Amino acid sequence: MSNSGTAEVLIPRSLCLIEDFDNLIIDVEDLCSVSISWEDGFVSELKPLKNKITKPKNILFPRFVETHSHFDKSFTWADFPNLEANYGGALSINLKEHKTRTTDKVLERVEKSLKLAIQNGYRAIRSHIDTYKSQSIDIWIELFKLQKKFSSELTLQFVALAPLEFWDTPSGEKLAKTFSSHGGILGGVIVPPFNKKYTSKVLAKMLLLASKYKLEIDLHIDESIIEPGAGIKVLLETIENLKINSIPITCSHLSSLISLSHSEILNLGEKMAEKNIKVIALPLTNFWLLNRSNKTTSLKRPVAPIKQLQKSQVDVSIGSDNVQDPWYPFGNFDPFYMLSCSIPMLQLNPWERMTLSSIFLAPSRLLNLKWDGLIKKGCPADFVILDAQRWADVFSSTLKRKVFIKGDLHC
Ligand SMILES: [Zn+2]
Repeated sequence: MSNSGTAEVLIPRSLCLIEDFDNLIIDVEDLCSVSISWEDGFVSELKPLKNKITKPKNILFPRFVETHSHFDKSFTWADFPNLEANYGGALSINLKEHKTRTTDKVLERVEKSLKLAIQNGYRAIRSHIDTYKSQSIDIWIELFKLQKKFSSELTLQFVALAPLEFWDTPSGEKLAKTFSSHGGILGGVIVPPFNKKYTSKVLAKMLLLASKYKLEIDLHIDESIIEPGAGIKVLLETIENLKINSIPITCSHLSSLISLSHSEILNLGEKMAEKNIKVIALPLTNFWLLNRSNKTTSLKRPVAPIKQLQKSQVDVSIGSDNVQDPWYPFGNFDPFYMLSCSIPMLQLNPWERMTLSSIFLAPSRLLNLKWDGLIKKGCPADFVILDAQRWADVFSSTLKRKVFIKGDLHC
């Protein structure tokens, strides 16, 4: 059978749910030696390897989940470079790119990104799509067709990234209605400086629209070095005033929060956890764009305070964000590129459960996927298997990887 197989591999212990736990050989980096078999695209057997002498030569991961990307602008750096490489430059060059944008160009970028993502080992991706009033709604019909076309290989979610005011217009309402039958998430940006009263007013309209059509919200929020936490404070206040709790909300970035005091972060974290607000940390674009100076190298790099938020019971995922566009010139929809940069920069130990949670489990929960990403009997045979024996092999050099989708080797 083509979608069946067996392998002797290492799996990070916290990603592996095994019945015969007592006999498991676990190395110093928390990798355990197991024998795994799959049939008809699902794991049929998972048992400890008892041979202490030969360590498996491969590490197995569940296929990855990307919580935050921008397919609509990927690979536009070549035509729209942002050589100053700061936030303001990215924004203005992004707007220039909009003027040349056509549905075909966007679809081409989305398809190219999807193919790379699948090949590199992703099983699900959430992508924001820039959305504005003059744009035809037809682009969404085409995007949903692509979502369907690739659905056997990858789950794709779209967020309409619009100015907050857009959700208070007839076009915004029309799109929300379309999303209620096709799926789709309402997006927006809250970055200081902003008028607090006005922002709260338009945000309230957006929340009510999401509630009306039972949609999720994903905001680019506090991607900034100034006014720490100004956006999340307005969001929490607005939710409180509306007295609605049922809307699933994701806060992407939340980088300025790191400048608040430890107790303020924990306090805000607790309020967010209470409202079930999830967070996506995006270290690559934050470290690249924010607090830049041509003349000095600064250590001050805002990024979501992952460990403090996790301590407050907030579900935190780590995402990649932009790929080769005015916001970030590098990347290739490769989870190992993102992790090779992020793991050392964030001082996250890959052998620890909470780190692996932010890479595999929290993203699966954020995208509401059927499979939580734990390798266990009965889970999908959706793996990335590396030629590797240690974490150093995973994050150091050219990787040899095999991607299995529903038990079949993807070529
Ligand atoms: Zn983004």
